[in-house]
Amino acid sequence: MDIQGHKFLVTGGASGMGRNFTLNLAKLGGDVAFCDLNEEAIAEVETEGAALPGKVVGFKANVASEDEVVALIKNVREALGGLDGVVNNAGIFRDGLLVKADRETGEIKKMSLKKWQQVIDVDLTGPFLISREFAAAAIENKHPGVIVNISSISRYGNMGQSNYSAAKAGLVADTKLWGNELARYGIRTGAIAPGFVDTPILQGMRPDVLEKMLRAVPLRRAANPDEIFLAVKFIIECDFFTGRCIDVDGGQVV
Ligand code: NAD
Repeated sequence: MDIQGHKFLVTGGASGMGRNFTLNLAKLGGDVAFCDLNEEAIAEVETEGAALPGKVVGFKANVASEDEVVALIKNVREALGGLDGVVNNAGIFRDGLLVKADRETGEIKKMSLKKWQQVIDVDLTGPFLISREFAAAAIENKHPGVIVNISSISRYGNMGQSNYSAAKAGLVADTKLWGNELARYGIRTGAIAPGFVDTPILQGMRPDVLEKMLRAVPLRRAANPDEIFLAVKFIIECDFFTGRCIDVDGGQVV
């Protein structure tokens, strides 16, 4: 699928990678809707995108809410005059060990169900809802499409991330099975599992902590969001790609 002349939805498009994907798709002539929770940041990205070749339109919507996602897909289709692809990018993390005994007091601390559920809701239920509504409308309109899922290197099981690792691994499994289920309708899928990427999450870290983390990366640095966008572009453009995950992690092993 060409990017130019096609219509895309990017979730979590007001910050970090989602913002980058939104603006890069519009630079290449795609019309892009994006959703996020933060209205001020949505308006800023719309302003940044105003002069680009493709349209950039923002929507306030929570990907974890079924009602909001149903309305979002309908509204985006109306605003853009159809929809050819979605990028499931919105994500959060709430790290913690499953169970931890305090070294001095022996007190047991557990990961709360709330922390578990918050991450599953946004990082796994969100892509499920967006992909389901997108695919249903595409099939109804007998229209081909592409679903890009942003997973993470944590999909391999990263200590301190029971919730996030489960969601990101589940998303890769769904990418494969949605690829199989939806191929007959002309809908392709692809996942991307980035390692560290230079977004506000990393920029907020203590420099010494960040430096220590980056020592685990063979390329000794974080990715630039443009480098992750190359994988988004590849999945959209390569009509023989479906159901697989591309690891873009600087060679890091978790
Ligand atoms: P970010 O925090 O900069 O941006 C995420 C955006 O998603 C924010 O604007 C946030 O408001 C939005 N969002 C959060 N919950 C939402 C919801 N319920 N509904 C709609 N929007 C919501 O994050 P980022 O670093 O750009 O990460 C983007 C994606 O890439 C995430 O899925 C993340 O897990 C994944 N990822 C990030 C890294 C990294 O190093 N930054 C590495 C691997 C994977």
